[in-house]
Amino acid sequence: MKGRVVVAQKKAQSTQKKTAEAKGASTSAKKPAESVKAAPVKSEPVTKTEPAAKAEPAKKTEPAAKAEPAKKTEPAAKAEPAEKVEPAKKAEPAEKVEPAKKAKPAAKKPAAKKTKPAAKKAVAEETKPAEPAAEAAPVAEQPAAPAAETVAAAEPVAEPVVEAAPAQPQYDTPRRSVAFIGSECHPFVKTGGLGDVMYALPRELVKQNCDVRVILPRYACIPQKYQDKMVYRGEFYMDLGETGRSYYVGIMEYIWDGVVYDFIDNQEFFSAGNPYVGLVEDIPKYCFFSKAALAALNYMNWIPDIIHCHDWQAALVPVFQKTLFKDSPVGHAKSVLTIHNLRFQGIYNIPTIRYWTGLPAEVFNMGALQQAWRDANMLKGGLAYADRITTVSNTYAWEIQTPEYGEKLEDHLRYHSYKLRGIVNGIDYGMWNPATDPALAVNYDITNVLERKPQNKLALQKELGLVEDEGKLVVGLISRLTNQKGLDLVNAIVPQIMDGNTQVVVLGTGDKEYEDTFRYYENAYKGMFSACIQYDESRAHRIYAGADVLLVPSRFEPCGLTQLNAMHYGTLPIVRETGGLKDTVEPYNVFNGGGNGFTFDRYDAGLLLDAINRAKTEYFTSRYHWDEVVQRDMAKDVSWTNSARQYKDLYLELTPW
Ligand code: ADP
Repeated sequence: MKGRVVVAQKKAQSTQKKTAEAKGASTSAKKPAESVKAAPVKSEPVTKTEPAAKAEPAKKTEPAAKAEPAKKTEPAAKAEPAEKVEPAKKAEPAEKVEPAKKAKPAAKKPAAKKTKPAAKKAVAEETKPAEPAAEAAPVAEQPAAPAAETVAAAEPVAEPVVEAAPAQPQYDTPRRSVAFIGSECHPFVKTGGLGDVMYALPRELVKQNCDVRVILPRYACIPQKYQDKMVYRGEFYMDLGETGRSYYVGIMEYIWDGVVYDFIDNQEFFSAGNPYVGLVEDIPKYCFFSKAALAALNYMNWIPDIIHCHDWQAALVPVFQKTLFKDSPVGHAKSVLTIHNLRFQGIYNIPTIRYWTGLPAEVFNMGALQQAWRDANMLKGGLAYADRITTVSNTYAWEIQTPEYGEKLEDHLRYHSYKLRGIVNGIDYGMWNPATDPALAVNYDITNVLERKPQNKLALQKELGLVEDEGKLVVGLISRLTNQKGLDLVNAIVPQIMDGNTQVVVLGTGDKEYEDTFRYYENAYKGMFSACIQYDESRAHRIYAGADVLLVPSRFEPCGLTQLNAMHYGTLPIVRETGGLKDTVEPYNVFNGGGNGFTFDRYDAGLLLDAINRAKTEYFTSRYHWDEVVQRDMAKDVSWTNSARQYKDLYLELTPW
């Protein structure tokens, strides 16, 4: 989610440029189409490829026809091409399927190990159109279906790299297969909480008797060490909306801790240095991704019980599933759409989204994608078509049905509230564990936190150039620096917080106004205020360990992970009572010493200051009780176990066999 915001800024700069690019893209998209039509007539391309393909094609195609074809591809193909292309279909199918085959043989293995090959293929895709012509005949027999099948057959697939499959315990619930579809996943690419969830939840579901496959874009910005571990799984070509083109879809696979990660490859869409670039580019990108993810499941003949998609980038999946793919194998899976942040919805004008999706006219109505008469809203469509909707806390599930938090979808959400529920996020105990965390100066657990946490505080003060004194109250803030996070409240009261016994450490990037204000305070309160305007995972861990309290005064917060990380590291959260913050932080009770942190309700700087002052009072005058809360927070179960169980229950509700 963060990325979206950061991106939004960058985008603003390049929007105009992009608009132009987008038009160019559209143009280029159309051109290929034209060339495709022309290509069939040509025989040259074929000649070129022929050599490599000659021998194999024959083998590949035949098997394909016999085995899989019928089931997998056919449906998928039927759905899409059927409506739009049908007439032209005859010619196209041939083009699509065959080209894929021909090219593969040669590229296959190289692609398996290196990332570059993929790019070449994508490029090849554009030129291939010509080749298809040659093989039109064989393909013709099995219209669209052939494309996928043939490809499948042709790609017996290299053996994936398998790392440490966990031992399978005894399960108390039946097995279910789940395909996670989303735009980011730690450690491959992460800009916010979504990346954490896409990493941790599948791993926990595996432990709870689920067969999980995570489908992600193969962004060029994924670190090379992960690209190197991916193994070529296959490729095929796919129609996309009204582009008139057949797009390359490569599948690169990596199996890790029992979870299968399938990366959808097409460098035409995923070559930017950041996953999110701006709506002009992101809309086509995620239209392609959503459709390609479903087509890939058909292609791999891995049809899950549940398709679990996340946020607007994958929100079209249920829409595609119930329209263009409804007669294909994946069309029968149940769908769950999780809202991680309702603010981001993927809104663009209807003609553009229709162009990139080819979705039938009936989905562009006010009950589904249409919004405000002229625009299409991808998330809104997904909410209408998904079998179940979840969001990441109970309170947020309720809040988003109100005008204050509904981001203009409150009516739509109320209408679909019968299928909406909240399931709070957890944190991954492997990633967040003060007893083993390699980033910390000193590791600790609940038995020695009271002695060792101060050592981490001193190390943090030294690292950041603050006055080294374990007696100071260190207030941490780790956040995207955006309007959502309540930073205007913080900025308004910093002078009143700085009393000589309090230090503030900020870690984050985002809106310039916040970055500059925090830099100003660092200069104004030398040795007592540190503004780390950066994204630094390792430093974040050290702040969780070294701070005494962590501020999360958000305007709205679907779930929030920083308060969970903080509690697990014995750092008391100071939060606004909204969304997941309200569900996970019980207010400290001065009368009986209960609770986990300090809270305030209305979005008001005075109330935030009051909460901070209550924390200071406890810290400086009642350390015994403070220490009890520290230990209680560390003992609190904020793991994924319980939350994953609720997701599993939801899956079982949808598949009661
Ligand atoms: P959101 O998804 O809205 O950004 P969350 O609280 O759900 O907020 O998730 C934020 C995650 O990103 C946490 O794991 C937090 O530690 C991490 N994070 C946020 N900002 C930074 C930063 N500047 N450097 C390192 N990690 C950060």
